[in-house]
Amino acid sequence: PQLANQIAAGEVVERPASVIKELVENCIDAGADRIDIHVEQGGSKLIRIRDNGCGIAKDELALALARHATSKISSLDDLSAIVSLGFRGEALASISSVSRLTLTSRTKDQNEAWQVYAEGRDMQAVVKPAAHPVGTTVEVLDLFYNTPARRRFLRTEKTEFGHVDEVIRRIALARPDISINLFHNDKPIRQYRAATSTEQVERRIAAVGGLAFIQNAIKLEWEHDDLNIRGWIAETNNAELQYFYVNGRIVKDRLLNHAIKQAYQNQPQSENFAYVIYLDVDPHQVDVNVHPAKHEVRFHEARLVHDFVHQAIVMALDAKSQ
Ligand code: ADP
Ligand code: MG
Repeated sequence: PQLANQIAAGEVVERPASVIKELVENCIDAGADRIDIHVEQGGSKLIRIRDNGCGIAKDELALALARHATSKISSLDDLSAIVSLGFRGEALASISSVSRLTLTSRTKDQNEAWQVYAEGRDMQAVVKPAAHPVGTTVEVLDLFYNTPARRRFLRTEKTEFGHVDEVIRRIALARPDISINLFHNDKPIRQYRAATSTEQVERRIAAVGGLAFIQNAIKLEWEHDDLNIRGWIAETNNAELQYFYVNGRIVKDRLLNHAIKQAYQNQPQSENFAYVIYLDVDPHQVDVNVHPAKHEVRFHEARLVHDFVHQAIVMALDAKSQ
């Protein structure tokens, strides 16, 4: 199984940023509203992520590191309507196969916390007592220490941290209700405070996308049947700010770009758009199972979704021009 884990690790664990993405998604699935992320040397030396979510019970700690162990899906029926970010039960097994990983956790029903440790090949079956508030900390040391070819593939500390920063930015935009703190080599780099009002959400978007973006953008807000869209679009020459979320997952999909271009076709200005858009659809109407890391989705009724998005943009453009 070790080899299988390392092969699977190649799929989900490409670099520190992909480790962090998986671990933070676990925090979100656990219902955390505060996540603290410490990174050293771009993440190749250390990644430590603490959350205040539901925690993992003592007798499930070792299981959490096993392959295909997920607490999030128990039947095929669940698979057709995935609401959690994780569901393959692969991340912790894969990450622990290529690092030294410590998992410490406490549930609200336990008076004490417990800890397991896994180092590459070997998992220590011993579950040790530890000090920790309700929630979970995952510490990943020496990523790829036992897969030198992959370790060599890592770029400079600055580049790796840049990827980490971008992963956190995407998550911060996806979940403005969660407070997220990011530290690099003990220095605080990002502090995204939990937003409880629309203004605070806009402030977080502005913190990421710049004030000019929010000020120039048209604002989408529409709901119809099971479809709900919110967000901002601005014409720009800088198309770096393009974030599209479907049911909380960041997604790359031509459908959106097509709908935007079509809605703007009678407008004079630029070719490029910056956007932050949240689309929520009935989870039965979308397949997230297409590819683990490629951010693809498949809408069962793509035409319908496209027309809905297009219509929402046309309405926002009309509202702006009045
Ligand atoms: P998946 O997220 O696909 O279920 P993972 O390998 O990422 O698989 O995690 C395995 C299991 O460990 C999860 O299903 C969950 O039960 C538990 N787990 C992992 N991280 C956390 C966390 N931060 N808080 C609570 N439970 C967690
Ligand atoms: Mg997961």
